Amino acid sequence: MGIKENVLRIFERIERACERSGRDVSLVKLLAASKTRSPEEIKEAFEAGIKLFGENRVQEARDKIPVLSSLPIEWHLIGHLQTNKVKYAVDLFHCIETVDRKSLVDELDKRLSKKGKVMPVLIEVKLSPEETKHGCLPEDVDSLVDYVLSKDTLELKGLMTVPPYFEDLEKVRPYFAQLRDIRDRLEQKFGLQLPELSMGMSHDFEIAIEEGATIVRIGSAIFGERKY
Ligand SMILES: *Cc1c(COP(=O)(O)O)cnc(C)c1O
Repeated sequence: MGIKENVLRIFERIERACERSGRDVSLVKLLAASKTRSPEEIKEAFEAGIKLFGENRVQEARDKIPVLSSLPIEWHLIGHLQTNKVKYAVDLFHCIETVDRKSLVDELDKRLSKKGKVMPVLIEVKLSPEETKHGCLPEDVDSLVDYVLSKDTLELKGLMTVPPYFEDLEKVRPYFAQLRDIRDRLEQKFGLQLPELSMGMSHDFEIAIEEGATIVRIGSAIFGERKY
């Protein structure tokens, strides 16, 4: 199965998930998670209709994004951002989905101020206690929202999460619902719109859509299993 067929099949599945849950399909964006994939594979996915791509590592993005600069791709950073990589990230990406701490907000603000740029961002929320995952704890998210809102260089668009992997899809649903609930509560409390919920990957994106996802981040279902 080629990338093009995979992409078309995923667009269909997104449409059906939207129908099932009474959602407007134009509000769900397909982001291709392109870590470890070559510029040629990315180009193929672009030609199949994907306009939004996500990379995990700044160094890999520095190698690949310039090679693809002739394509009107919107690039999101979906992996952990080290403070010392912010200076590159602000030039490479259109949106940082993984803002998770105040020191990162400070560094983004500093670098963006210098360039006179405004960057859309999402806050990554960590909903499970797994040690390996990054993200802001739910109990710290209000304070981080407040901090992001205090910076003119950052435009807070919503929340992102990476839940634990479950074979049984119904076990992941509560994590997606929890992110939506946190979003709804923050909108009320701060009196603002947080339209984006970035959640759902290859094996669980339909559940995420049913629970309100507006960005689904899909890698292996588009490009095949990762070889490394
Ligand atoms: C790799 C990755 C994805 C996509 O995962 P697949 O299971 O390959 O669809 C989504 N989000 C993040 C943050 C990732 O690192």
